[in-house]
Amino acid sequence: MPTGRCHCGACVYAFEGDPLRSSICNCTDCQRCAGAASMAWIAVPSGAFRLVHGEPSLYRSSPDTERWFCGTCGTGLYYINEVALPGIVDIQTATLDDPDAYPPQAQVQWADAPAWAGTVGDLPKFERFPG
Ligand SMILES: [Zn+2]
Ligand SMILES: [Zn+2]
Repeated sequence: MPTGRCHCGACVYAFEGDPLRSSICNCTDCQRCAGAASMAWIAVPSGAFRLVHGEPSLYRSSPDTERWFCGTCGTGLYYINEVALPGIVDIQTATLDDPDAYPPQAQVQWADAPAWAGTVGDLPKFERFPG
């Protein structure tokens, strides 16, 4: 069963089966909430998702939107919006114990992406830092 957790390990979750989709969101809400240029998500049916331990904290980035995060270490964990995405829990892919398992299939909300987002794949890459 796939599992994931926050940085400090206080919150652990699991889900059954395969995600319905895997994508990268570039919307400004995700940017602000993550403090990052974009956020990778996998969507799983609500009934397949469960908390293994911990009690995540809730932040509403809009009236219908629940962004659940670890109140101890601040890691964003999952998102629920029963109006826009009924029956879905969107999990932040980078919190999975095996984030390589579900490669993103699309970039969404591209209209909000930073102007340089399209060329970051072309930048020089270092295994750690340049020597
Ligand atoms: Zn934590
Ligand atoms: Zn977003």
